[in-house]
Amino acid sequence: MKYSLFSLIRNGLSHHERWPRAWRSPELKGSYDVVIVGGGGHGLATAYYLAKEHAVTSVAVLEKGYVGGGNTGRNTEIVRSNYLWDDAARLYEFSLKLWQDLSRELNFNLMYSKRGLLSLGHSLQEMRDIARRVNANRLNGIDSELLSAEEVREMVPILNTSPGARYPVLGASLQRRGGTARHDAVAWGLARAADGLGVDVVQQCEVTGFRRENGRVVGVDTTKGYVAAKRVGVVTAGSSGVLASMAGFRLPIESHPLQAWVSEPVKPTLDAVVMSNAVHAYVSQTDRGELLAGAGIDSYNGYGQRGSFSVPEHAISSLVELFPIFSRLRMMRQWAGIVDTCPDACPIIGATPVDGLYFNCGWGTGGYKATPGSGWVFAYTLATGRPHRLNAPFSLDRFRTGRLIDEHGAAGVAH
Ligand SMILES: Cc1cc2nc3c(=O)[nH]c(=O)nc-3n(C[C@H](O)[C@H](O)[C@H](O)COP(=O)(O)OP(=O)(O)OC[C@H]3O[C@@H](n4cnc5c(N)ncnc54)[C@H](O)[C@@H]3O)c2cc1C
Repeated sequence: MKYSLFSLIRNGLSHHERWPRAWRSPELKGSYDVVIVGGGGHGLATAYYLAKEHAVTSVAVLEKGYVGGGNTGRNTEIVRSNYLWDDAARLYEFSLKLWQDLSRELNFNLMYSKRGLLSLGHSLQEMRDIARRVNANRLNGIDSELLSAEEVREMVPILNTSPGARYPVLGASLQRRGGTARHDAVAWGLARAADGLGVDVVQQCEVTGFRRENGRVVGVDTTKGYVAAKRVGVVTAGSSGVLASMAGFRLPIESHPLQAWVSEPVKPTLDAVVMSNAVHAYVSQTDRGELLAGAGIDSYNGYGQRGSFSVPEHAISSLVELFPIFSRLRMMRQWAGIVDTCPDACPIIGATPVDGLYFNCGWGTGGYKATPGSGWVFAYTLATGRPHRLNAPFSLDRFRTGRLIDEHGAAGVAH
């Protein structure tokens, strides 16, 4: 929807009255070609690319709550592609390329900010691992640089780089195209664009079961009734195990809380994303001025979106060691999402033991950055019934063949 200067002024003065809905609130139909379970960024991107790239418009996105109310609206917005192994690097780089043009494509400002992303090294061994990843990235055509301690200091002067620091900074990797993008905007922009192409985005509609005939999925039971579907794609981060058990099989994933928090807002003080894998903490500054920080997963399994106190306690004390200037900031808000983690820290995107039923899950702590790429490849798979070469390595079958893609080192924070 394009806004003229006149409509901008009128809406600006209207006290938000009579604004058009960004997307419809359609009644659930009796059948669709494709039903997507989960209205987070990945599910919405899948629907958008199904309609846009494959002209499949008989599509419903069924969301049990509201769009973007899951991990899409709970994450720390970090976008990057500097993964170690070729298969993962290709997928995340494909996604990063899609991010670059997505605001224009959706006509929705996603606030993608290429502010640069630093991963700090605190020991000689860590610097060797970082150098290895930088070299691997470059071989894959991904921008990645190895910075000395002096270069890190120049880029982030508020970081404690003194040799006597508790976490001495020996250097860092830098991906300049890495940064952040506004997570709510991603969900809203994709929902509006998918809706505009004819997709039904149905909120408050929980999928409660799958129906099968002769081993093939034929539809889903929902809190709004039964819906028939030729193919079903499940994109329910945090609940993938629950949905798989409804369909009668198990996934090699665990569900854990992952926490984040923001400080009170302050003036611009940090213009890069800074991560420290060794201490499992990372921080960036939002456009509102808050310091947005996160940590590794809570180690217990669970579905409560809270997390335990010890995780932020450890991460905040580490961040204050790294950034003494933050020590007097007050924390404004804390929250958690539930992330599904795979044993090799990579997602599962593709077919399941049930014909016609496909899963896209297991993104762990890092699926937000992959939102457009994940949706693109999953749409390809749902439209054609086979994997694209970018998601072929991420089949569920790899846990049987043993062809794992171990991305724990590049996954950022522990999981
Ligand atoms: C605190 C935190 C910080 C993070 N930080 C980052 C980061 O900086 N960078 C990054 O790349 N990734 C990050 N992540 C991970 C990232 O948020 C996720 O990998 C990604 O958002 C997953 O998107 P999704 O669309 O698959 O899931 P979601 O957005 O969770 O969407 C799944 C949807 O499925 C719905 N659903 C579940 N069950 C049903 C059902 N039975 N019927 C219908 N609907 C159902 C849920 O309500 C939910 O809306 C973070 C995650 C958390 C929790």
